[in-house]
Amino acid sequence: MIKTIIFIFATALVVWVFVWLADYPGSLSIAWYGGRLELDLTIAFIGTLFFAISIGIFYRLWWTIRRAPKAISKVWKNNRRERGYKALTQGMVAVAAGDSNEAKRQAEKADNYLGDPPLTMLLSAQAAQLNGDEAAATRYFQAMLKRPETAFLGLRGLLMQAERDGDRVAALSYASRANILKPKTPWVLSKLFELEVQQLHWKSAITTLDQSIKANSIKSAEAQNLRAAVLLGCSIESETSGEHAEALRYSKRAQKEKLNYLPAIIQTAQLMNKAGKRRSLNKLIKETWGQNPHPILADLYVSDIEEGDHLLRIKKFEELKELNPDHAESRIALVRSLIDAKIWGPARTHLEKLCTEKPSSRICHLMAELEEGDKQDAEKVRHWLVKATDAPSEATWICSSCGTATFSWAPLCHRCGDLGTLAWGTTENFTSFLEDRVIRKLPKKDPNLELGNI
Ligand SMILES: [Zn+2]
Repeated sequence: MIKTIIFIFATALVVWVFVWLADYPGSLSIAWYGGRLELDLTIAFIGTLFFAISIGIFYRLWWTIRRAPKAISKVWKNNRRERGYKALTQGMVAVAAGDSNEAKRQAEKADNYLGDPPLTMLLSAQAAQLNGDEAAATRYFQAMLKRPETAFLGLRGLLMQAERDGDRVAALSYASRANILKPKTPWVLSKLFELEVQQLHWKSAITTLDQSIKANSIKSAEAQNLRAAVLLGCSIESETSGEHAEALRYSKRAQKEKLNYLPAIIQTAQLMNKAGKRRSLNKLIKETWGQNPHPILADLYVSDIEEGDHLLRIKKFEELKELNPDHAESRIALVRSLIDAKIWGPARTHLEKLCTEKPSSRICHLMAELEEGDKQDAEKVRHWLVKATDAPSEATWICSSCGTATFSWAPLCHRCGDLGTLAWGTTENFTSFLEDRVIRKLPKKDPNLELGNI
C-alpha cells in the first residue's frame, strides 16, 4: 500500500516536472575541456532520470549477485531441514507402528539431514531398541545425558532399560537423577517412590512421598495410608540400625498420621518396652485395648512381671478384660494366665464361654491343656486336639490386595508387593472384599521383595 502511494507520488512529481519544463522551456550549457555542449532542459532532465534509474538497477543487480551464495546456501539448508523433519516424523510413526526397519531407515535419514539434534537421538535410540540393539540404544541415551536439553529424556530411556533388565539399583539411581532435573514431574515422583519402597529406602521414600503430595500428584486419602506405612518402614529401618529413640519417634508419627493404626501402635509398644518406658506402654495398651485388642499387646502388658508371679499376671489381665469384656482376646489372655497358675475352675468358666459351635484352634489347644492339667483326661485332650485341626482360621495379618495371610506385619505384602495393605483380621473378614477385587480384575504388582518385620 505504502509502495503504491510512493509510486503514484513519484509519477505525479515526474509528470509535474515535465509540464513545468514545457511551460518554462530552457537550455543547459555545459563547458568541458574547451568545448561547449548545449542541451534542452527537458532532455537534460530525461537523461538525469535515466542515469539515476540505471544506477539503481545496477546497484540492485550487484547486491543480488553479492548475496547469491548465502541465499543459495539458505535454500539448500531449508530443504535439508524440511527433509530431515519429514524423516523424523515418519520415523516416529514407524516407532509407534513397531516397524523396526523403517524406523531405523528414517532415523539414519533424519540424522543425515538434521545432524545431531535432540529428537534425532531419541528416534535413533528408539529405533535401536525396536531392532533389539539395546547396546546401541544405551549409547544414544548416554550421549543424550551430555546435553542439558536431552539429559532428562536420556535418563528416562536408561531408567526404562534398567527396569526391563530387572536392575532396580540402576533404575533408582536414574530416577533420582531425573528427580533432581525435574522435581515436580508426576511420573518421576511416582517411579522414584515405587523404587525406593521396593528397595526399602524408607527415609528417602518419605521425602519423595511428601514431594508428591506437594505436587498434587497423589490424592490426600491415599497419601495418608501410604505415609503411615512408610513412616513405620522408617521406624523399622532405624530400629534395625540400632537407633531406637529415632525408631520410636517415627512410629509415633505413624500413629498420628492414621488414627487407631494397629501396626503403628504395636511397633510403638514394642519400642517402649525395649526402652523400659513402662508407664507410657501401659497407658498406650489400655487406650488401645477397648478398640484394637491384640495378642502382642497382651504379652507386652505383662512383660515386666516375673515368670513365676502368676497372680500379678492374672490381676493385670483382669484389668485389661474390664476394658473390653466381650472380646475373645480379653478372655484368652486371662485364661492363659489362669492355666499357668493352675487355677482350673475360673479358667474352665471363661473357656466354656469362648467355646462356640466352631471354636478357633487357639481355644481348642487351651481346652486340651486345661483337660490335661485339670483332670488328666486323655480322651478329652485328644478330642480337642483333633478339633483344633479342623478349626476356623485365627486372626492374622492379611493383605487386602491379594489375600495372602502372614504371621508378622510388614510395610509391603511379601506376595504382591503392595504397600500398607496388611491388616489384622480373619480370612473370613476379607473373603467378600477379595472376591470383589477378583471380579474387578484389579492389577497386581511384581512380588519378590524383602520385608521388615514387626
Ligand atoms: Zn498382597
